[in-house]
Amino acid sequence: MSFCNFFGGEVYKDHFKPGMYVCSQCNHPLFSSRSKFAHSSPWPAFTDTIREDSVTKMMESLTAFKVLCGKCGNGLGHEFFVPNKGKDKQ
Ligand SMILES: [Zn+2]
Repeated sequence: MSFCNFFGGEVYKDHFKPGMYVCSQCNHPLFSSRSKFAHSSPWPAFTDTIREDSVTKMMESLTAFKVLCGKCGNGLGHEFFVPNKGKDKQ
């Protein structure tokens, strides 16, 4: 599973503690840079959120959740499922 966000989290690198990514609307803490990983998408991707309620997920399709800020509902991006095909390369 992976998280992608659209709000340009890198911008906030100097805004908060380094490596902490927050909601662009309400500064709700979302991701830690420790969970950031290289990804094929153009957006920063994360393996985990800071807290369980950091984000809200809404089922959007069979393969994707829409990810919203857990506090203000700001749209962040999508979480995609990788079907079990025995391959985990992308
Ligand atoms: Zn928010």
